[in-house]
Amino acid sequence: MKCTICGREAVENGYCELHARAYQSIVKKYEVWRKALEISWKEYLSEIVKNPFTGEWAKEVAEYLIKIGEEEGGT
Ligand SMILES: [Zn+2]
Repeated sequence: MKCTICGREAVENGYCELHARAYQSIVKKYEVWRKALEISWKEYLSEIVKNPFTGEWAKEVAEYLIKIGEEEGGT
């Protein structure tokens, strides 16, 4: 199985190690954001993509999640 984003060897949920790690930190950070702000999962993802401080890995994951329209935290 290959990573759905970069095509490297996938280790978890169809992601390679780096994208799986980025995905987990996106999900974790959303819980913090959601408590502080009224923000939907999709709005949150587009904030990640727009944010110049987002790492490349996280940005790729967020773009991918927007594209497939994944619901919050789903696998
Ligand atoms: Zn990958």
